[in-house]
Amino acid sequence: MSAEIIDGKKIAQSMREQLKNRIAQLNGVKPGLAVVLIGDNQASKTYVSMKQKACEALDIYSKLVKLPASATESELLDIIQELNNDSSIHGILVQLPLPDHINETSVIEAIHPSKDVDGFHPINIGRLQTGGEAFYPCTPNGIMKMLEHHEIDPAGKHAVVVGRSNIVGKPMGQLLLGKSATVTYCHSKTADLKAHTRQADILIAAAGIRNLITADHIKEGAVVIDVGMNRDDEGKLCGDVDYSQCSQKASAITPVPGGVGPMTITMLLFNTVESAERFSR
Ligand code: ADP
Repeated sequence: MSAEIIDGKKIAQSMREQLKNRIAQLNGVKPGLAVVLIGDNQASKTYVSMKQKACEALDIYSKLVKLPASATESELLDIIQELNNDSSIHGILVQLPLPDHINETSVIEAIHPSKDVDGFHPINIGRLQTGGEAFYPCTPNGIMKMLEHHEIDPAGKHAVVVGRSNIVGKPMGQLLLGKSATVTYCHSKTADLKAHTRQADILIAAAGIRNLITADHIKEGAVVIDVGMNRDDEGKLCGDVDYSQCSQKASAITPVPGGVGPMTITMLLFNTVESAERFSR
């Protein structure tokens, strides 16, 4: 049997339509997102321009602050301070990675938690665990929306998260736990990956390794979510999951491209709109 395809592009589109309605109800307040880009990293430039285009399509104000790679940490912190105090800005995002001479933690902690639409500030990470008004990191939160859309309830299920990064793996496990899943984390030091992933009712693959997850790693009927963004030998985008094999065994699966990817930027827009709503309350 072949799996139901979880179409991230379609879900993202319908969420963006809903966001348009929410923006229309903001009584003239235009949600504003500031993106700070430092240096010349090509991948960063591409991500930033994708984020800007997504904002334009929803009529969200997007402000791009570009700094040379030689910018100092204190210059960057001053800019963040200005954006914290700028009432036209509801979300602030500093595109990572930063040049080596700038401390990432100091920068993330300088963003006011109420404008931290990436959900990376320790206050937001803490509230993700303890509850309360917070921004959740975009990729894992997008995955929760995909599960919701397909009426896949994590409660009582065994969710296995492969990867423990601060941006994806760790918050993913917390969100699933928040929805009453039993959660196992696997990572680069896990002794027997397969023994764990085979137990998964819901498997989240976020290791950044092409074809790490084969049909042998999953159980019949599992829900398989692929966060990987790798390149194959021909330079084509591919995930961490061997899709052709696993789609024959899973009950539902996300493709790459067209799965988790389109949801991530949508959740950034979602958090920005939510922030504008909170500020205009
Ligand atoms: P991302 O931010 O997309 O999650 P990172 O590169 O920051 O990606 O993190 C990769 C994660 O994948 C790490 O937590 C690492 O422990 C995990 N990982 C890497 N190799 C393996 C492996 N062979 N088996 C299981 N987990 C792995």
